[in-house]
Order: sequence, then C-alpha cells, then structure tokens
Amino acid sequence: LTELTAKRIPQCLTYDIFSGVQIQRGDKDRILAEAGLVSPKSQDPNQSLINSLKQIKGSNNDLNLPVNPLEALPMMDKFLQRTDKPTVFIIDHADVICPASMQGLNRQGEKVPSIALTQWSRNEAMRSKGHLVFLITRHIVDLDPVLLDRSFEAIKIRVPKPSEQERKRFFQKNGDTKSATLMSNVTAGLSHKDLAKLYHQTASASVLDDIFSFKRKVLKEEYADLVEVMETQRGFEAIGGLEKVIAKLRKIASNIRTGNTTLVPQGILFSGPPGTGKTIVAEAFAKEAGVNFVKPLDIQIMWLGESERRMTKFLDAIKDLAPVVVFIDEFDQNQSSRGGFEGDSGVGRRLFKKMLEIMSDTSLRGKILWIFSTNRPDLIDSAIKRPGRCDLIIPFLPPDKRQLTLICEAAFKQYPEMKSKVKNWMPYARKCEGYSGAQMIEVIRRAWERANDQGRKYIANQDMGWAYQDYQPQLQGKSDVKRMTLLSLMECSSRDLRPENWKEVIKKMFPKDSTKIIKFLEGGKHATPS
Ligand code: ADP
Repeated sequence: LTELTAKRIPQCLTYDIFSGVQIQRGDKDRILAEAGLVSPKSQDPNQSLINSLKQIKGSNNDLNLPVNPLEALPMMDKFLQRTDKPTVFIIDHADVICPASMQGLNRQGEKVPSIALTQWSRNEAMRSKGHLVFLITRHIVDLDPVLLDRSFEAIKIRVPKPSEQERKRFFQKNGDTKSATLMSNVTAGLSHKDLAKLYHQTASASVLDDIFSFKRKVLKEEYADLVEVMETQRGFEAIGGLEKVIAKLRKIASNIRTGNTTLVPQGILFSGPPGTGKTIVAEAFAKEAGVNFVKPLDIQIMWLGESERRMTKFLDAIKDLAPVVVFIDEFDQNQSSRGGFEGDSGVGRRLFKKMLEIMSDTSLRGKILWIFSTNRPDLIDSAIKRPGRCDLIIPFLPPDKRQLTLICEAAFKQYPEMKSKVKNWMPYARKCEGYSGAQMIEVIRRAWERANDQGRKYIANQDMGWAYQDYQPQLQGKSDVKRMTLLSLMECSSRDLRPENWKEVIKKMFPKDSTKIIKFLEGGKHATPS
C-alpha cells in the first residue's frame, strides 16, 4: 500500500500496536509540527519497555511517536485535520485496537478507537482533503462491525493468497524456470511470505517431499482452528476394486489439473455402508488431482453460538486453500445436512443457506470441490443433493470375493513396509466374504503382526489363517448394511456408476425379494418401491 500510493499521495504514515505511529513518507519535521509533536516524548512511564520492544522488532520509530492507540489516534486526528496535504494512513492489525465485540468481553475503553475512526469519515473538512485510511486485519469478522457500517463508507477488499499464476511468476523470477510450473502446482494455499521461506529452505534440495511436508506444516498451523489439513499419501493404486468409481474420478481429477472446470462437478456425494472406502477414495482423488485435502473441524459448532464468524472464517480459509477438496464425513449425522437445527433462532438456517450459496457458486467450480460421505443418503436435505450442488452421487457397495482379493493386494500399497509370500488371496477372500474393505485390511494387518511376533519378515499362509480365526469383527447389524447398500443404489445419480456386480450383490443380500428390487432399480425414478 505504501508503494502503491507513493505517486499520488505525498504523505504516508503507518500504525500498528507494536511499533506505534511511523512516518513512511513526507517531510518529517513538518509532519511532527502539524501533529503537535515537536519534541520527542519521553515522559511515558512505559518508555523503556517500548524502546526494548522496538529494538526487538527492529522498528524505525526513532521519533518516539505514540504506541498506545489512545494516544496515537488523537495525535493522528490532530494531524489529519491540520495538514493540508493528502495523507495515507495505514493501520495494521486493526482488529487488535478495534475488536469485534465478543459477548460479555466488550469493555468500554475498547470502543474508543473505533469511534475515533468512524468520526474521520464523517468529518467534512477532513474528507475534502483526500486522505486515505487503510485498516488491515486477517479476518474481517474480527474487526468491529461499526467500521464496516455503510455510513462509514468503508470498502472491503479481500486479499487472496497468491494464485497459481502469481506463484509461477514467483518461482520463475527466482531463477528456476524449469520447475516453476511444478512448484506453482503444488504450493496452493501458501502466502508470499511462505513461498519465500520455502524457496530459501529447499533451494538446494527442491525435493517434492520436502515441499509437501513444508506446505502441510504451514497450512496446519495457519488453519489449525478451522480445518484439518489431511495427508494425501495414498493414491488410487492403494485401492482395491471400485473400478468404475476410480475411472470416473480419474477423469474429473484430470479436468481439474488441466483447468477444464466446466467438466468438474460442484460437489460429490459418496454413499455406502461404513468401511467401503469412501474416505480413502476421497484422499486418493485429492492426490490424483494434486489439490489440498481438508476436513472442516467442529462443523457442528459452526451452527451454534459464535458460529457465523466461524463459518465466514471457514469459507475464507477454503478459498485460500483452493484448489481444494473439502471432505465432510458422516454428513447425515450433521445437523447441517438437514438444513440446520429445528426450532433454532434461524442462525442454523441462515448458515445452511450460506453454505448452499458457496456450493452453487459456479465461479468456484473446479477450485473448491465438496465431497460428502454418508451411509444414509436419504437423511440428507434434498437441497444439497440437487444437481448444481451435488452433481454426482456415487454408490459404494460392500466388496465381493473378487474385490476382497484386490483389497488384499492393495493393503501392501497402503503399508509398504508390510511384505507377504501369499500367492493366492482367494481362499481368504472366500472366508471373509461379507467383510468390508476396512475389515479385510485389518485381517491382513493382524497377519503381519503375527508374522512379526513369530520372527518372520513376510506374511505366510499360516499367519493369514491365524489372523482370520482371531479377528472378531465389530458387530454391525446386517440389516443396516443391507439398508445402506440399497439406499446407495437408489440414490445414485447415474446408472452407469453402479458397479458391474450390483445385481449379484442384491441377489445375495435379498434372496427373496431380489427380482422385485432389481426391477425397481432398473425402472429408475418412475417405479415406486413397495
Ligand atoms: P468409509 O469412509 O467408507 O467408512 P474408509 O475409506 O475410511 O471407509 O475405509 C477405512 C479403511 O479401510 C481405509 O483406510 C482402507 O485401509 C480400507 N479400505 C476400505 N475399502 C478399501 C478398498 N476398496 N481398497 C483398499 N482399502 C480399503
């Protein structure tokens, strides 16, 4: 801002709570005189503390201009009224001196700076001078809303994280033209400061793994209170079966990578019983598309109390992190899935509408992709399932024998340290028929533990036999799984996405009624279920 305004506005001062008022541009003596501050102030009892703080901060506030906002703002007030030259005044960390009132936390004194600021815009004499005041804050919702009142004539400007092009320019400018494209691809969500830090840290090595771990660390710290930034280590190779789903998602991932955003859905709903691979597929998809992968934290809390501020921060965060997959697990358990709390004061409803707006904002298509996961798609508000929000509803069915053998093989991609001498998984898949993918993987993990206990470096057939006998799957109502499977087939948005073996699955699950069910599912929307 200081540089940008330099050509047209002769005087520039800045203020932040740490360094106090500083003169960035203009005739210092004149400014001091106009501010009524000819002699350096020395009577401040906190002066020695302030001086040492300044030293630590490396501040150039050598003129001893006020640090305390209750002194700084009246001084600026005097100065802006007296001076006849247009002045830029930039207040950093404005939310510290003009905080949004938190219930019960607002003390009388806190309002003083906000009131001073709003008066500047109402003062005709001051306005005619052409002064320009900038307030800087990390989250606009942390700032006293009085300052955003329309009568104050403030304009809100959101400063986004650097775009892919800006990041590319940064890496090109710093010499590495060859890897600039790659580097800009994998650094979404990082600020200019982070990019510079990353560049210095990895300039010699420039290894992708280093970049990923750097990025994860920075994003985790920055957004720790809003989203969980997930690892995307496991790709599609670590998944067994689910061929149609993966083929579809591969196409979408490629469209995200190449910027073909019209071919990318706004949102996807994964529907199926627990342990069928919904989460791991979402992770692998984010990896394949090369985008960030996050889960909102405490989405429940977002619909209560301080939630409006939180929701705004959350939505800003995911825009910063774009391109990003936002994964919302067990969505049916979430109040938001049903349009907010019943009988609440309307906040839930309002926030729900806000989320729907973001979901259907087509300018975010291909940048923010929502993936919801559920085992009860019927409980989700149809406003979310409608095309333009969830364009795709993908069914995840329990694996059959063939798929279980593929899941066994995939286990070794998920845990590369595990080794095995087992050649044929079919006998175990047969024994484990009815298990979910998660349960099958657990049997293998136990076999590996057993092999280790026995001093073997490989899983042998006897370990599998033992693990199968030992494993006691958590009780899960068979009728629940049946119901969830049926629902996911019924709600699925495209018949083409049903797995090849869906009819066999139905026949196994509903031996008596399978003909009727299959007929109904083949009949699609026009048939009525009995
Ligand atoms: P869901 O989200 O459907 O409840 P998850 O994706 O969390 O299921 O599955 C839990 C674990 O089970 C995964 O981390 C993975 O190890 C394993 N798993 C489930 N399905 C598969 C599959 N099709 N291929 C490979 N692993 C699977």
